Amino acid sequence: MSASDSYPLVEIFESLQGEGRNTGRPCVFVRFAGCNLACPWCDTDSAEKFKLTLEELVGEITSFRAKSVVFTGGEPTTIAGMAELVAALKEKGYYLAVETNGLKSPDWLAFVDYVACSPKAEFASLYDEADALREADEVRVVASSESVVEFCRSIAKKISATDYYVSPCDRGGEIDFATAKSVLAALEGWSLSVQLHKILGFR
Ligand code: SF4
Repeated sequence: MSASDSYPLVEIFESLQGEGRNTGRPCVFVRFAGCNLACPWCDTDSAEKFKLTLEELVGEITSFRAKSVVFTGGEPTTIAGMAELVAALKEKGYYLAVETNGLKSPDWLAFVDYVACSPKAEFASLYDEADALREADEVRVVASSESVVEFCRSIAKKISATDYYVSPCDRGGEIDFATAKSVLAALEGWSLSVQLHKILGFR
């Protein structure tokens, strides 16, 4: 990435991590634009709103109080220049986490502190590709239907992680706990990750 290139972004804001093992941690969320999937229930706006250079982006992140950063999207692993961004923030002592759908495993992931992978059952066969992620800190699967049980079992064999979570599916504000509970009853070693920000109404 050259100095004149820039990062495609949707938003940057400070909040608390709302799901997974880091729930409650104050973080700066950097939402990158663009995704390499099109999940039918996706509620994330990943259309590009603005661009920042590396220097501008680091300046924006350091203007917040939190010393943890979550790279999210869209899909951060599709973004050019992430190795440079990770290096710049590690030099400043930041704790870095990334949220990814797990279809790609770029080298810079080895330098972040926490990888949360949310593989998508609707695209199960793509997780056999050579490029797919094989290791993460946590894996979170959205219980979009009862049939994700088989997907959870197969993805646990493909992606090694410390924690495996099932998240209830949110369809336009309707949070489906019933399917998540039923999926969890059929799995061993998986637990519920609630989306606290949706329940408590914070961003
Ligand atoms: S991977 Fe995430 S951002 Fe991309 S389409 Fe699916 S839910 Fe939306």
